[in-house]
Amino acid sequence: MRTQVLIIGGGFAGASTAQALEKRGINTTLVDKKDYFEVTYAVLRDVAHPEKNNGKSRKRYADFLDGQFIQSAVVELNAHFAVLASGETIHFDIVVIASGSRYPSLPLAKSVDASSLESRNNELQTYHDALKQAKDVLILGGGVVGVELAGELAYAMPHLKVTLAHNGPHLLNGFKSKASKKALSQLTRIGVEVQFNARYQETEDGLVNTTNGAKINPDITFSATGVIPNNEFLKRHYAHVLNPQGQVIVNEALAVTGQQHMYAIGDIADVGEAKLGYLAVEQGKYLANSIAKQISGSQPKPYKRHPFMALVPTGQETGIVQFPFMVSTWKPLVNIKQKDLFISKTFNGFTQ
Ligand SMILES: Cc1cc2nc3c(=O)[nH]c(=O)nc-3n(C[C@H](O)[C@H](O)[C@H](O)COP(=O)(O)OP(=O)(O)OC[C@H]3O[C@@H](n4cnc5c(N)ncnc54)[C@H](O)[C@@H]3O)c2cc1C
Repeated sequence: MRTQVLIIGGGFAGASTAQALEKRGINTTLVDKKDYFEVTYAVLRDVAHPEKNNGKSRKRYADFLDGQFIQSAVVELNAHFAVLASGETIHFDIVVIASGSRYPSLPLAKSVDASSLESRNNELQTYHDALKQAKDVLILGGGVVGVELAGELAYAMPHLKVTLAHNGPHLLNGFKSKASKKALSQLTRIGVEVQFNARYQETEDGLVNTTNGAKINPDITFSATGVIPNNEFLKRHYAHVLNPQGQVIVNEALAVTGQQHMYAIGDIADVGEAKLGYLAVEQGKYLANSIAKQISGSQPKPYKRHPFMALVPTGQETGIVQFPFMVSTWKPLVNIKQKDLFISKTFNGFTQ
């Protein structure tokens, strides 16, 4: 098989690149292990309160993607072709690596095994059903995912005792200190117990906090730690383009270091921006434009990095907004995301 542009991975980065290239008349083939795109921003609420988004946060590629889609895993990348798990090869003029990242200890955040839309819906429903039966939950890791998960569970499932254990002295590492403090007070207000400098170890009697010896035995433990880049298919021929964290090193045009016609964007790439879906979309749109320019013989401009901004919900009514110049908990700002967690914005962005 042959394609003008092969895109490996159909997350925020890959899907936005594919759609923007197709609009410019450039032929694309997108390969993903799954048959659906998922708006990760909404997944934690899908687990805590499935009726809220009512299945709208996932769509099959077949229902919105304009270019060719193949459901398979890329197992090896060469300079001019990729090998799929089926053994089939796809030859390309240009390849975009957009294989993202995974949370092996927290498959509810990004599924490890659910490759069909039905299986993902069932997987999330199974988590919800287990949480309905549980009395207490421990969440390890007070980063964005841990904070959001604690907020969603405490808000929508008030029968649960939610404990958030973080190994550092404040929540949301990398955020301004005002954002960390606000997150703490918002979570505490909806009943989350937040523990700082807490490290838990599994023993026969349950989990032991190694700092103070306290034992707990929660019905469910979620470990919101440890993001891993999906780079296995690069290890044979391109191990030298990976940084120590396993992300692909790119230049100012998002081209893989030292490679011609090979680009990397989103969570898999060392772009020098936060690992966020909206930035992966910005990178995808930039790259589509830049590939179109390159094909028409003109010189693309370097990628302009964006300042860090984030909107972190802590339940369905509160949240923290961090701009480069301020932190706010002002409801009208927080509600920009609370409405539908940017589900419509994401899908509209792919079809405009
Ligand atoms: C719970 C949660 C909440 C989040 N909330 C926000 C938020 O509110 N705002 C925000 O901006 N960001 C948020 N993020 C971060 C955001 O989800 C990531 O930055 C984003 O998913 C990165 O997009 P991506 O396209 O680079 O990678 P991914 O979304 O990881 O997509 C990669 C795709 O590649 C596929 N793939 C992987 N390996 C292969 C292979 N070998 N062959 C074929 N396909 C492959 C995968 O199946 C996947 O579909 C959140 C993340 C999580 C987990």
